[in-house]
Amino acid sequence: MTRINNPMEIFKLLPQTNCKDCNEKTCMAFAVAVFKNKKNLDRCPHLSAEVLEKYGGEVEKPNTIDEDMREAVEYLKNKIPGTDLEEAAARTGSKYDGKKLTLKVMGKDFSVIEDGTLSSDIHVNPWLAVPVLNYVLYSKGRPLSGKWITFRELKGGMERYSLYHQRCEKPLKKIADTYPDLFRDMLDIFNGRRVEGPVDADKAVILYPLPLVPIIVSYLEPEEGLASSLHLFFDETVDENLDLDSLYTLTAGMVIMFDKLAQRHGIPSAHAAG
Ligand code: SF4
Repeated sequence: MTRINNPMEIFKLLPQTNCKDCNEKTCMAFAVAVFKNKKNLDRCPHLSAEVLEKYGGEVEKPNTIDEDMREAVEYLKNKIPGTDLEEAAARTGSKYDGKKLTLKVMGKDFSVIEDGTLSSDIHVNPWLAVPVLNYVLYSKGRPLSGKWITFRELKGGMERYSLYHQRCEKPLKKIADTYPDLFRDMLDIFNGRRVEGPVDADKAVILYPLPLVPIIVSYLEPEEGLASSLHLFFDETVDENLDLDSLYTLTAGMVIMFDKLAQRHGIPSAHAAG
């Protein structure tokens, strides 16, 4: 199956004469129609047998993010039956009862069963399942250092910072600005604990989305013309216990969860434009 990522890739295969023999006004319109599965490539009569053979059959479209995530979950779940869950539990700060590994995710039980099935007190979505499975499979089990660093200070963090800021810190600050009960919910619902925090803050809470992956949420309220600020801090060992992509996924998923909680209290989504 040939993978086509966008209509331009189809357009490049066409003669680009805009002859209209395919009943489209232009080759580009035809390329878009093919990409949307409205027309088959062989409706253009001017393509070589070679091109039709390579691209004329079933074309694989790019996955959506959700599809990618679901595929990643299935891929990781398939690795569980070959994994020593007893060893994984000892390494990751989890429990093992002979059949399943259970760890705490934001204070709630999350179990990985020996056949790869997942069960939890909280809603299992791919944004959570992928980091949990990567953590169980690949965490090095490094003890926490107690030294706190930002995402940007992590190896590879600078390159991913823009996306991380857009999907994590920026919307979380918006939620903190508009939903006054956010920090109380972190304490009451998500097993958070108040801490001093590594920088000056009006509110700082430590959360444990995974046992060896604590996150400090540090928030400075707005005052006298100064905007609020919100920063997330990670233990210096974090990238040995969870890969950077999973850390991003986990943090972004956590923010989505807080956003949904705020929306249930009538607050507009922090991910909405503007
Ligand atoms: S028949 Fe082929 S060459 Fe002609 S307009 Fe359609 S796509 Fe372009």
